[in-house]
Amino acid sequence: MTDAAELRRRTAELLAAHPPATTDRLDFLRARFDAGLAWVHYPEGLGGLGAPRSLQAVVDAELEAAGAPDNDPRRIGIGLGMAAPTILHYGTEEQKRRYLRPLWTGEEVWCQLFSEPGAGSDLAVLGTRAVREGDDWVVNGQKVWTSSAHVARWAILIARTDPDVPKHAGITYFLCDMADPGVEVRPLRQITGEAEFNEVFLTDVRIPDSRRLGEIGDGWRVAQTTLNNERVAIGGMRLPREGGMIGPISKTWRERPELRTHDLHQRLLKLWVEAEVARLTGERLRQQLVAGQPGPEGAGMKLAFARLNQEISGLEVELRGEEGLLYDDWTMRRPELVDFTGRDAGYRYLRSKGNSIEGGTSEVLLNIVAERVLGLPAEPRTDKDVAWKDLAR
Ligand SMILES: Cc1cc2nc3c(=O)[nH]c(=O)nc-3n(C[C@H](O)[C@H](O)[C@H](O)COP(=O)(O)OP(=O)(O)OC[C@H]3O[C@@H](n4cnc5c(N)ncnc54)[C@H](O)[C@@H]3O)c2cc1C
Repeated sequence: MTDAAELRRRTAELLAAHPPATTDRLDFLRARFDAGLAWVHYPEGLGGLGAPRSLQAVVDAELEAAGAPDNDPRRIGIGLGMAAPTILHYGTEEQKRRYLRPLWTGEEVWCQLFSEPGAGSDLAVLGTRAVREGDDWVVNGQKVWTSSAHVARWAILIARTDPDVPKHAGITYFLCDMADPGVEVRPLRQITGEAEFNEVFLTDVRIPDSRRLGEIGDGWRVAQTTLNNERVAIGGMRLPREGGMIGPISKTWRERPELRTHDLHQRLLKLWVEAEVARLTGERLRQQLVAGQPGPEGAGMKLAFARLNQEISGLEVELRGEEGLLYDDWTMRRPELVDFTGRDAGYRYLRSKGNSIEGGTSEVLLNIVAERVLGLPAEPRTDKDVAWKDLAR
């Protein structure tokens, strides 16, 4: 059993063999992965040591104190938070060995080709087709709202392989090479002016069967692992106190006494407490994760994250008065990551609108909490036994 003392010993060994000050960043990250100190709860040989997930904090603290580089987790959130756990759960040994190391070091960025123009909340109606031809699958269709597709090397993709069975049954999960011929990425501009996401057209893209994840027709089950992890990745990231959106508004409050009113104070205090409760609930959720896959509780965290971000950024705009209404950064940039705290109040206000849509809308998450956490009656679902090809779309 690997305990905290053993992890400290191994971390010291890594630092001695690869001093951060004189080691190339990528070389250090690769060595860290090979030493099993990347994600300690992953199996040996795949960046971990099969240790309890909670002990990751021990390694992270030692490495931070030594000034070691990290893998810039915000830049590779989809890979770390969604693709990796799905590959770990459903991948073959060969797939795990090929994809997890460059995913973790950030050498290969991942994106998620799930949503389509006609399939968002009701994702299982998706129409992108994958047809078997020899050892390959030939994929045709359109995906939309694909974050980071413009910088991604790989995508997790779900496509319809059998239109003759009900919608959930005929889906298969693939790993798609974004550099393959037939993959076309076009920017989609958002309310912030930036194009952080894209539409992706797939035309006769050939995916070898060796890049199928899970069984043919089992893609919906595989996708649940991705989606459950997505909610935790979006809503449940580890933050220090005042580490999220509540940080910048609290700072403004302290530094700008002339903006203060009694009413704003009461509202800020209420949101501060709620943000702190959400942060601590996230800690508890991560402790539950130690025991296995995330459950529907992740939906609750993501709901709270979206509501709080919107309320806090709205209050910040109000607090700043006229100055809060200014937003003059309409350059169409193609950012690699979403940075809530490093940008201005106008950006935070506009960008947080998407929080209640991305990773499942708040309405749909409320349904999940109602059905799977509270045990309330399910919504009527009339299309579950109808072949996908006979659905009205
Ligand atoms: C910033 C951002 C980044 C994104 N990144 C990605 C990505 O990288 N990859 C990807 O695949 N997708 C991505 N998405 C897409 C996102 O997952 C979808 O937008 C989302 O699932 C909603 O789907 P939709 O847009 O088709 O809306 P719809 O499903 O058409 O929903 C429209 C409205 O109807 C409501 N509604 C729908 N069904 C129900 C129901 N059963 N009960 C109550 N209300 C309901 C919804 O809540 C919503 O208000 C991203 C979205 C955003 C905003």
